Amino acid sequence: MILILQPDTDQKSDVFQSLIAVLARFDGIRYRVHEERGMQQKLTEVYLIGDTSALQIEEMGALPGVERVVRVSTEYRILGRHKDDQRATYFEYNGVRFGQDNLTILPGLCAVDTKEHVEAMMRACREHRLVCTRMGAYKPRTSPYSFQGHGKACLPYVFELAGKYGIKVVAMEVTCEAHVEEICQALRTSGDATGVMLQIGTRNTQNFELLKSVGRQREFPVLFKRGFGITLEESLNAAEYLASEGNRNVVFALRGVQTEKGAPHRNLVDFSHVPVVKRLTRMPVCIDPSHSVGSRDRAPDGLLDVFHVTAQGIIAGANLVLADFHPVPEVALVDGAQALRLEELPHYLEDIHTTREAYQKRLALGGAAG
Ligand code: PEP
Ligand code: MN
Repeated sequence: MILILQPDTDQKSDVFQSLIAVLARFDGIRYRVHEERGMQQKLTEVYLIGDTSALQIEEMGALPGVERVVRVSTEYRILGRHKDDQRATYFEYNGVRFGQDNLTILPGLCAVDTKEHVEAMMRACREHRLVCTRMGAYKPRTSPYSFQGHGKACLPYVFELAGKYGIKVVAMEVTCEAHVEEICQALRTSGDATGVMLQIGTRNTQNFELLKSVGRQREFPVLFKRGFGITLEESLNAAEYLASEGNRNVVFALRGVQTEKGAPHRNLVDFSHVPVVKRLTRMPVCIDPSHSVGSRDRAPDGLLDVFHVTAQGIIAGANLVLADFHPVPEVALVDGAQALRLEELPHYLEDIHTTREAYQKRLALGGAAG
């Protein structure tokens, strides 16, 4: 059960203290307070943990300072959507809104290789008024002999160039706590030239200690990839680890699931789960068509499979698109085979725009209002 307090409730106030005094008397029920500072107001939620079945919504709603009460179903307490749940389905970070009702495109390098390529990519983003990109610095690779990413060595120029080209959010995978510290330090040194969204890769979906440490920090939002070989429910539970530690600014990314039945694609595309994740949780949903398809194969109609698959996610209401681009895919050190070329960016964006409009028309026909 979640008690949502009146906005701007001060934890030192008499109202809050009397509420806590009542909660402390409940047998076998613990409480946990979560505070979220928005642009306009401070929101406080109190989570009641334990057997709350005997508690009545009306009685709890009448406690001091309580505005609303949400009875949570068993799973995904914080990130989930529950009955009569009006909690936010968006968050803002560094001036960018990530929500279940809007769309943000993050084209970028799977892995940072040279400063020149980073600059070319960011220049292309600015030309198209895009303020988010992906830039892999730490690359978890299948083989220990493959390029592992430039790590912290590339952060200074990545952040400096991001600032130069007006990039507000750089999505970047981390695989351990030290990476988060390195990113934090490099950002400070750059004068906070940009913002970072920490990516949890599919190989780390159930790395619970990593999730706990990334969840404990609340500076950076998280782009969380579904696990490639586990159920959707298991992946959503794993995402909840981030929120249960305090960080609820989480985007859930679909990137396909691994099965030989996915062939000829690298992974079996799972973008039909976009509306499912939006129904079960309050997280904005990202699609990663590049790691799903894994190639530049083209259909007889002339469109790349990556384009087709992106459209499948967008038409179903996806909120973010994470896509591999590269100025010269032939020399990319990671995943060049699936990267789109910078010259393809205008076409890609136009295709996404067209499909998003179609999605909005579908809503008007009988979606949210119907
Ligand atoms: C990536 O986005 O660079 C990546 C490695 O993706 P995934 O974790 O989905 O394989
Ligand atoms: Mn990749």
